[in-house]
Amino acid sequence: MPEFNAPLRDMRFVLHEVFDAPALWARLPALADSVDAATADAILEEAAKVTSYLIAPLNRSGDEEGAQWADGQVSTPIGFKQAYATYIEGGWVGLSGNADFGGMGMPKMLAVQFEEMLYGANSSFALYSALSSGACLALDAHASDTLKNLYLPPMYEGRWAGSMCLTEAHAGTDLGIIRTRAEPQADGSFSISGSKIFITGGDQDLTENIVHLVLAKLPDAPAGPKGISLFVVPKVLVNVDGSLGQANAVSCGSIEHKMGIKASATCVMNFDGANGWLVGEANKGLAAMFTMMNYERLSIGIQGIGCAEASYQSAVAYARERVQSRAPTGAIAPDKVADPIIVHPDVRRMLLSMKAMTEGGRAFASYVGQQLDLAKFSDDAKERDNAQTLVALLTPVAKAFFTDTGLESCINGQQVFGGHGYIREWGQEQLVRDVRIAQIYEGTNGIQALDLLGRKVLADKGIALRQFTGEIRRFAHQPGAPYSTQLFDAVQRLEDLSDWLQDQAATHRNEVGAASVEYLHLFGYVAYAWLWARMAQVAQQKRGEDEGFYGAKIATADFYIHRLLPRILSLEQSIRAGSASLFGLSAEQF
Ligand SMILES: Cc1cc2nc3c(=O)[nH]c(=O)nc-3n(C[C@H](O)[C@H](O)[C@H](O)COP(=O)(O)OP(=O)(O)OC[C@H]3O[C@@H](n4cnc5c(N)ncnc54)[C@H](O)[C@@H]3O)c2cc1C
Repeated sequence: MPEFNAPLRDMRFVLHEVFDAPALWARLPALADSVDAATADAILEEAAKVTSYLIAPLNRSGDEEGAQWADGQVSTPIGFKQAYATYIEGGWVGLSGNADFGGMGMPKMLAVQFEEMLYGANSSFALYSALSSGACLALDAHASDTLKNLYLPPMYEGRWAGSMCLTEAHAGTDLGIIRTRAEPQADGSFSISGSKIFITGGDQDLTENIVHLVLAKLPDAPAGPKGISLFVVPKVLVNVDGSLGQANAVSCGSIEHKMGIKASATCVMNFDGANGWLVGEANKGLAAMFTMMNYERLSIGIQGIGCAEASYQSAVAYARERVQSRAPTGAIAPDKVADPIIVHPDVRRMLLSMKAMTEGGRAFASYVGQQLDLAKFSDDAKERDNAQTLVALLTPVAKAFFTDTGLESCINGQQVFGGHGYIREWGQEQLVRDVRIAQIYEGTNGIQALDLLGRKVLADKGIALRQFTGEIRRFAHQPGAPYSTQLFDAVQRLEDLSDWLQDQAATHRNEVGAASVEYLHLFGYVAYAWLWARMAQVAQQKRGEDEGFYGAKIATADFYIHRLLPRILSLEQSIRAGSASLFGLSAEQF
């Protein structure tokens, strides 16, 4: 038995039965010839083998050994190099990449399932290629044809990796104050100088080259975020024919020692007059980088779901085996000294909370994937625009809600093990450590919440929000739609609260920041309620075919609606209490 089993049955349920993805693919010309239900299933099955049998077995040893740095070089833990070589043979890095440059051109809806498997199997390993996929997307969208032709094919192949170089010691959230400089050179390239910290995969021994996407400032750049440009800076310089030349003036100064994802190298990267090439327009680098950041935000959100799934699988197995005390209703296993802990209401609460949030998250990630596919592949401009609006609205929710609740799930999984969850043996403590970073990097969850409420909801006067809640209302209006009463109530609360915040924000400048995290959570719970109702609707129709699977779906939907959705009531109350109590103390009084 592998330590991690890709949740294939549930992924197929979401893709085929809830969203009918194959029907969507058939009507999108760019996908119609390349993917159908059978292809998608074959890809998922192969992905399950690769993640369960090749990558998951390196999770524990990778954590124990960690990435190492010596004499300016990073080495990944034993087994990573061989596994990575096998992994890229399957073309996984370019799964949803542009087919014109060697990508497989598969839909994002499918790719999100694969990403979840990767993170569930081994978060550190997953990160080495997650950054490459995002870097490819940014290059594809913004780089010149020359750069695309040179860099994209080996990156999609996985022979070269990508990195994202934003953060500096004094500049994390506030990228407007970065100090890395780019000096124009006579040949049209730029000389890049500065130091970046916390760069995931900034150096490693898996690939022939590393393509750093670096934010830097030109000499005449305006101050702040409007003066940032994006450059491609390879570790090894690339000749015009695509072959590798001399080493560039890029070095890894050290790696961080950290709480989790220990096998992922988090690097200090020094650029000492390194050769770089401008990507997109001068001073518009932050917008170009957002192509990569938005991709990575969804991906990092999915890290939360993957870790939660892994935690759930071992917690359920343990709860069935571990015997302690008798069930409150009388002995369930009288032949044993005690009953399995899965009989206890509190253990069931933990397991069901994990199941409900993980499967709800999987459906939400698939929905965002569907919108990304429509935004990219639809031949109807209005449909593309609508989908793009939803992607922009939902990306911060996906990143922050998946990871906040992902940590909650992993902690629940650890708790199911009691003291055995705190020691190394069972892997639960590693999952808690590994998932924790996902709330912090790619923009902290606090910043995601500000983005959602400030930019995506209030700045456009709730138009995007209404587009989303309109979908929920349309579902709930269907005759016989499950949980329609709860859905109407939840959506009304979300809309009323958003209107109230719009009014508050006009006169109280701290109101948005005071409300944003709770608002994002409330939004997430409402979105999951809709997805659980959709899943319950399908399960009700098919229950006779497989009581085990569909019956569990219906029961979990019930649990979600009655036990988890009511969290929105307390979130709403906190938000409506306003910001004043946050400012009752002076900085000295803390
Ligand atoms: C393991 C790891 C891997 C990473 N990988 C990468 C990578 O590959 N590339 C890269 O460029 N970076 C990477 N990072 C950096 C990461 O993205 C940043 O740490 C993160 O964005 C936060 O920046 P900061 O640490 O400087 O915190 P700060 O920006 O100093 O924030 C500190 C706290 O203040 C809050 N805060 C800041 N500003 C505001 C505001 N305006 N309103 C409300 N709250 C605010 C934050 O939410 C946070 O809670 C990585 C970090 C780690 C630890």
